Amino acid sequence: MTRRDPAVAVIGAGMSGLCVAIALLRSGIRDVTIYEKADEVGGTWRENTYPGLTCDIPSRVYQYTFARNPNWTHMFSPGGEIQAYFRGVADRFGLRNRIRFGTEVVDARFEGGRWVLRTDAGAESQVDFLISATGVLHHPRTPSISGLDSFGGNAFHSARWDHSVELRGRRVAIVGNGSTGVQLVCGLAGVAGRVMLFQRTAQWVLRLPNPRYSKFTFFTRNRFGWLDRMAYRGYSFAYDLFAVGLTKPGLRRKIMGALCHVSLREVRDPELRRALTPDYTPMCKRLVMSGGFYRAMQRNDVELVTAGIDHVERRGIVTEDGALHEADIIVLATGFDTHAFFRPMRLTGRDGISADDVWRDGPRAFQTVAMPGFPNFFMMLGPHSPVGNLALTAVAESQADHILRWIQRWRRGEFDTVEPTSPATESFNAQLRAAMPNTVWTTGCDSWYLNKAGVPEVWPFTPAEHRAMLANIDSARYDLR
Ligand code: NAP
Repeated sequence: MTRRDPAVAVIGAGMSGLCVAIALLRSGIRDVTIYEKADEVGGTWRENTYPGLTCDIPSRVYQYTFARNPNWTHMFSPGGEIQAYFRGVADRFGLRNRIRFGTEVVDARFEGGRWVLRTDAGAESQVDFLISATGVLHHPRTPSISGLDSFGGNAFHSARWDHSVELRGRRVAIVGNGSTGVQLVCGLAGVAGRVMLFQRTAQWVLRLPNPRYSKFTFFTRNRFGWLDRMAYRGYSFAYDLFAVGLTKPGLRRKIMGALCHVSLREVRDPELRRALTPDYTPMCKRLVMSGGFYRAMQRNDVELVTAGIDHVERRGIVTEDGALHEADIIVLATGFDTHAFFRPMRLTGRDGISADDVWRDGPRAFQTVAMPGFPNFFMMLGPHSPVGNLALTAVAESQADHILRWIQRWRRGEFDTVEPTSPATESFNAQLRAAMPNTVWTTGCDSWYLNKAGVPEVWPFTPAEHRAMLANIDSARYDLR
């Protein structure tokens, strides 16, 4: 059978962009272009280089199933190792000559049955399919703390680490105690002269050690590939079990809560323990996993500051109680704008519909991958994807397979354009909304999972249910022309 060969553009060469590009190329689609505004692949792993950066998802599961790495050094790999893995994957699958590095797509509009892309250099090109793979943890969120500009030392966001700044013997103030702030404390304790952690809201931390793999493990993993596959399945199974605790009240939520309480007992000083104890249900905010945080917090050269930040002056941070905390370096571990998705790129669909207008009340999608009014447009890790304490590589693989299945149908000439219907998208989102009250994210805390209205924008079911949904193509809920 003759097949049409589509031109496909992927925006972003991070974990999910590489994943979908490889799926397209392996299926025989030749015209694949990846636009990447930076000069290297890796996305969040390229941008985050702070001391202590480690993936808190086990390496055996935070990797592509089609490119297993038997040589991870630790159960939870350091960030640099993960970035090296993605660079290696890009080389191995011959992606580099398909990536337009240093090129940002600023505008995409659907015109005459194709997507017309415009880059920041003003160049235009046309493709049949557009896939956004722009990541979730991408745009740093910098708080407007008064006087920050007047600080006499170095101040930067955790995702924009300034490696020219000497850390040894210096006083480092870390603002924010999410996964990043916690890892920073572990990475800087004993290196910096003094570490001050500015905590606005205490976090639940699950104590998980991070063992180094032995020579025997390297040998067996390299020799017997099935061991790695078994480990992957084992971890996936464990995550599916654990995820039920996130989405439904019950025993699993209680067990995770109990484990967090047990972890906190490592803190001996009752006053410090009280200050580190959150007043909301464990896992309401993304659960922080760390083997060393509580130990580090008990060091003499590490201090917890719980008074609110009032302003910054030349010498350091002044808290609301009037105390000046002198510092040489301020690190803003204050997170990311997780609701931006592909924006600020302008996306204009059929009949001039703009994504900004459609998403005025928050990002919405059908089955996390597509939007009505935007034909032949797909998203990786789009709105309501399962992005919490889960292996995003697995989520990306199932989304890539799903998107590829649609494109294969286009190649067979079954349609020219595809988009989900509005009623299907509305009923899908109503189903998500109905499930939200059951989730742990609505139990009374603020987090990056929530939109402006306080409603979680993540997947309220298990990862297995997400995989099952994407394993099938529900043609009746799409408009094919
Ligand atoms: P985050 O979880 O959004 O935490 C931001 C922190 O900054 C919170 O403690 C927040 O306090 C604080 N904050 C924000 N604005 C502030 C202000 N004006 N004054 C004082 N404190 C302020 O950000 P993150 O730690 O960078 O983590 C983001 C996500 O990245 C994680 O949830 C995770 O998905 C991912 N991540 C993953 C890993 C990994 O190992 N896999 C590592 C790092 C990050 P409140 O809690 O009071 O708002």
